[in-house]
Amino acid sequence: MTNLTFYERTRDALEDPTVNQAIRVGARRFVSHRASTVSGLPEMDSLRDRARVIRAETLNKLDVFLAEFADNVELNGGRVFWAKNADEANDYVVKLAAARGVRHVVKSKSMVTEEIELNHALEVAGVRVIESDLGEFIAQLAGERPSHIIAPVLHKTRGEVGKLFEEELNVAYTEEPIALNDIARSHLRDIFLSSDMGISGVNFGVAESGTLSLVTNEGNGRFCTTTPRIHVALMGMERLVPTFADLGTMLPVLEISATGQRLTVYNNLLTGPRRSGEPDGPEELHVVILDNGRSDTLASEVAEILYCIRCGACLNICPVYQSIGGHAYGSVYPGPLGSVLTPTLMGLEQWHELPHASTLCGACKEICPVRIDIPSLLLRLRDASSKANHSPVWIRTLMRIYSIVARHPKLFQLGMRFASVSSRLFAKEDWLNRLPPPLNGWTDHRNFRALAKKSFGQQWAERRSTEHTS
Ligand code: SF4
Repeated sequence: MTNLTFYERTRDALEDPTVNQAIRVGARRFVSHRASTVSGLPEMDSLRDRARVIRAETLNKLDVFLAEFADNVELNGGRVFWAKNADEANDYVVKLAAARGVRHVVKSKSMVTEEIELNHALEVAGVRVIESDLGEFIAQLAGERPSHIIAPVLHKTRGEVGKLFEEELNVAYTEEPIALNDIARSHLRDIFLSSDMGISGVNFGVAESGTLSLVTNEGNGRFCTTTPRIHVALMGMERLVPTFADLGTMLPVLEISATGQRLTVYNNLLTGPRRSGEPDGPEELHVVILDNGRSDTLASEVAEILYCIRCGACLNICPVYQSIGGHAYGSVYPGPLGSVLTPTLMGLEQWHELPHASTLCGACKEICPVRIDIPSLLLRLRDASSKANHSPVWIRTLMRIYSIVARHPKLFQLGMRFASVSSRLFAKEDWLNRLPPPLNGWTDHRNFRALAKKSFGQQWAERRSTEHTS
């Protein structure tokens, strides 16, 4: 995270037309792909209902399913490590790498490893880490963090990627997608074959069998988890489904919501390391189950955010995300999801601006495949933030005044009358193009409509009395 505030990062993002354009085009493309797939799937609504029930049931008995999952991973020959926080998870992987003499690690995309900054921990310990998801590979070459949870370089244009490859990989410039893909592919092939350890995330852990479900569109997940001699999978503790039947509901719901595909290209099911007689697969499997604030979240009033299956749909549809992109949020989890999850996992004090990064339009709730009521969660966090005095003094003062006025109807009507008359005094054709500080933040970007001559209450009363007399 940079030292800039959320507002400063937002200003920078708004002033970057390339980022702005790339994000808007990319996010809207995801939204339209999803919409066209869903329009041909009348059962999508009932699938989403079922998916929500599965998430609720899983989280209600999370301790039971976690124990079942861990037992089954070990029965299958894997090792389980319970990490309370990022340091414990990183420490386990770094020590494992040192004990096994690992010098090169290849990774498939995993937001949990971004959350705990595992790459940094490994690199400090002298282990070279290469990202193998195309988007993550590009972000790593550029020295940037992902700006979207499923499309890490949504903020980059093809031309920027071509230039980056030319500079960093010493190849001829091209912005042709297939050629760019081929360059990354041939660069990564040797890395898969020469790495000692593969690290992946987990889309879902299946409790009844200890199976890891991993979905990718590029096949890199399969390479990372089968070619190196050690596979380490990092999983947020909430990412479980009780049974394979439940997985059969969750996967299509995830995949349609993420990219609009009926099915992602590679659906991997990994149950334990290589068994004797099998020709391939890792010799060792380690599953790191990460808490890092999730237990506290489960006990909090925003526990519903743990239903999230990281599809990214709420980012794509959000007008704020579409305008500022992912980096402006400053967290690995951007968009509406991140505006709830980041302050909840990492502390409201440091991240108190994020719950305000929303218009509360409700588009995120409408599109979320597990129907998380994100606007309500944002309001709860805003309330908590305000009670902890994180809002600026002028907002707190104005809200206190409003709270008194709103509880006294006569005072409220008088206040509205005053606001209407005074705003119309300075308005040109019903619009104010400047408001005094601190309200000028609004009119710096758009006009503000003067208040109506008659309030809704007055108009309503007048209409009722006309109806009664006619
Ligand atoms: S909150 Fe819902 S829409 Fe957003 S990433 Fe999570 S599951 Fe997808």
